[in-house]
Amino acid sequence: MGSLGKGTMINKFLLTAGCGFLFSLSITCAKINDIATDLMISDEDEVKLGTQYKDRIEADTAEYPLYTAKTNYHQNLVNYIDSIGRNIVNHQDDRTGIDFSFKIINNDSVVNAFAVPGGFVYVYTGLIINARNEAEIAGVLAHEISHVAKRHGAKQMVKQYGIGMLLDVVVGDSSAIRTVIDLSSGLLFLKYGRDNEFEADSCAVEYLIASGYNPSGMKTFLETLASLGNASPKLLEFMSTHPNTTDRIAAVDKLIEGTSSEVRNRAIPELKYAP
Ligand SMILES: [Zn+2]
Repeated sequence: MGSLGKGTMINKFLLTAGCGFLFSLSITCAKINDIATDLMISDEDEVKLGTQYKDRIEADTAEYPLYTAKTNYHQNLVNYIDSIGRNIVNHQDDRTGIDFSFKIINNDSVVNAFAVPGGFVYVYTGLIINARNEAEIAGVLAHEISHVAKRHGAKQMVKQYGIGMLLDVVVGDSSAIRTVIDLSSGLLFLKYGRDNEFEADSCAVEYLIASGYNPSGMKTFLETLASLGNASPKLLEFMSTHPNTTDRIAAVDKLIEGTSSEVRNRAIPELKYAP
């Protein structure tokens, strides 16, 4: 996989912008790594950092109650969501050096999903209940995988706390851990900018296609979210307030239009299990 130089990237951007597309539509799933961030925080360090968050999240059973398998059916749902996520991970090559995990949080009133740096992805039962088919769930998971693949959360954390503080967390410095891994201040790394959200949608469409899905699930789920509006009290990450959902739908629609008819006509599998 060749990487483009910075000059090429800027030229490509100017060319696209010059063609009169909306800015958002020019954001693609670029095969460019942020070399500075790559040098500052290794995969191993990012996983250690993310594990600290994962442990805190899963210990906070009031706010983040994990969906536990009481019956074979429940276990099948847990395995099903995990298998959808893993299949997508296995069909992308932006981030291959880390293991991803996919877990369900048991809260039907939250229509959301989020990913912690290091590859820990969480999806709420409220989101699964509102999905009409497997392609929609795949679309959401692909978007979250993209945030991790493109290191959006890790970069956000470097910006927020500085690399020194993050490396202190990695080596177990307790005061750094108290400062950084503070769930009560919200998961700050989830506040991605609009460019990151468009990039995650763009990568998601790519990953969905590579995984054999019809990418229209991405679009139809965004439409569902738009129709829910503020009905759900906690539309945090997947439906972040910026960019707005209408712009995301337009950008995803444009990407889907550019795919082959084989892709657009792919069957849309039913959900095999639901909470
Ligand atoms: Zn996002």
